Amino acid sequence: MNRQAMLSQIEDSSIKWDLIIIGGGATGLGCAVDAAARGLRTLLLEQGDFSQGTSSRSTKLIHGGVRYLQQGDIPMVRDSLRERGHLLKNAPHLVKPLPFVIPAYRWYEPYYYTFGMKVYDLLSGKRSIDNSLLLSKDKVIDLFPNLKIDGLTGGTLYWDAQFDDARMVIALARSAAKEDACVLNYLKVEKLNKDNDQITGVIATDQLSGREYELQAKVVINATGVFADSVRQLDESSTPEIIEPSQGIHIILDASFLSADHAIMIPKTDDGRVLFAIPWHGHLMFGTTDTPDVPIELEPRPLEEEIDYLLEHAGRYLQKAPSKKDVLSVFAGIRPLVRPAHTKGGTTSKISRDHHIDVSASGLITIVGGKWTTYRHMAEDTIDQAIQHASLEAKPCCTLDLEIHRSDESDGIAENDNELNSLLHPDFEYKKASIIAAARFEMALSLEDALARRTRCLLLNKKASCEAAPEAARLLAGELGKDEAWIKEQTELFIKTHGA
Ligand SMILES: Cc1cc2nc3c(=O)[nH]c(=O)nc-3n(C[C@H](O)[C@H](O)[C@H](O)COP(=O)(O)OP(=O)(O)OC[C@H]3O[C@@H](n4cnc5c(N)ncnc54)[C@H](O)[C@@H]3O)c2cc1C
Repeated sequence: MNRQAMLSQIEDSSIKWDLIIIGGGATGLGCAVDAAARGLRTLLLEQGDFSQGTSSRSTKLIHGGVRYLQQGDIPMVRDSLRERGHLLKNAPHLVKPLPFVIPAYRWYEPYYYTFGMKVYDLLSGKRSIDNSLLLSKDKVIDLFPNLKIDGLTGGTLYWDAQFDDARMVIALARSAAKEDACVLNYLKVEKLNKDNDQITGVIATDQLSGREYELQAKVVINATGVFADSVRQLDESSTPEIIEPSQGIHIILDASFLSADHAIMIPKTDDGRVLFAIPWHGHLMFGTTDTPDVPIELEPRPLEEEIDYLLEHAGRYLQKAPSKKDVLSVFAGIRPLVRPAHTKGGTTSKISRDHHIDVSASGLITIVGGKWTTYRHMAEDTIDQAIQHASLEAKPCCTLDLEIHRSDESDGIAENDNELNSLLHPDFEYKKASIIAAARFEMALSLEDALARRTRCLLLNKKASCEAAPEAARLLAGELGKDEAWIKEQTELFIKTHGA
């Protein structure tokens, strides 16, 4: 993918795209893959970097959702487990099975949770990863030498899947581009154009050059997650809001706090939440929270009380209790939940994760809600709706069996080059070549794109990322044709934003 080549595709304002999709997260890029694979002329515009919104800030699970099973939302769990099966098949390089253990502290819990997870296995049908098992107390201690054992009665082992969310977004962007879609980051949609009260296209501004583009489309899709209401209000200023934002944060700790290959799932905290402790890229990820009434921002801020809440709960389960100084990184994301018609505010943990499609009087198609796991199904429903609305000629959906792009360019770049084959920083698994690949093939345009979303350095360890920043900026500059002043400016900005 090359941004300059993509930009040249929107030079000609007389082109009428079949679809313009606003939003470059899981939902928008899922729609772009689906539409382009059906032969539709597809343009996707993202105001920031691909996945800069919620889609790079998830718990990174492709799962049925044990919480939804507890809530009795069987159709949601079944649909998610079906999608999990397709993703394990279509993106085995990105989505991997992961064993989870539910530790039990009351005598009946091992039996209760094992029964529940057997239902989960049944709902997965032939796509089940492996059977859930009842674990003895000794087996749980064996798997998690650092788990608190006071009162432990046993546990339940079950299987779900884990992925790297921002890498998946890039893979989707490249899958869409392979099917001839035009996908652009840093292009913000500022206005919806209309003719006879029907939407005919958008006006978008390149956030890097300031240039404005007028673009025509038969259908415009609003896949902007928590920003969906702001785009709906570009269409009709008085339209009521439908998004109920809910913030979730994760803390990253050294892997030694868990010292395990398995993840832990805590099914119910005192306040009724689900928590996970998950090994990820050689670190331990612990989360998440569910904080309503947060401001809707592209860079949401973790609250001190959210960090305290997670540390307090980690300390309840881990022998070596982490403290603030052990937190290597924190990241926050906002769930684009759909507001139940009759409520505002209050708890968001019980709002359905189902998706909703809305078609406005002027033809704006808005897709909101859902979850990462179900992005493909959401996209299929949305594109079906768009085809029907604008009477587009298209092939049937084919994403159930469509392989998702696999990239191994950084290996090729590193081959025969000792310098690029070396690690960017001793605390990370990433080679210097991955920064080159990010700029050359994945449309990374800034240091933060490369360190937060092409590699995941920033999410894993802020201090080490700041240490790696000057070298990463130098590598990027070489690829992007930037000078010393750019290297200095990018490095200083990164350290100012993310340094201690
Ligand atoms: C803490 C947390 C944990 C989660 N964990 C999981 C999990 O483990 N598994 C799971 O299945 N789901 C999970 N989810 C849910 C999942 O992450 C989201 O449902 C999904 O990422 C939403 O994707 P999206 O594309 O709809 O929104 P986003 O990723 O937010 O994408 C919308 C994009 O639209 C862009 N945009 C907005 N306005 C404009 C404009 N005017 N012009 C151009 N672009 C615009 C934004 O910049 C943004 O990038 C989690 C969510 C959170 C918050």
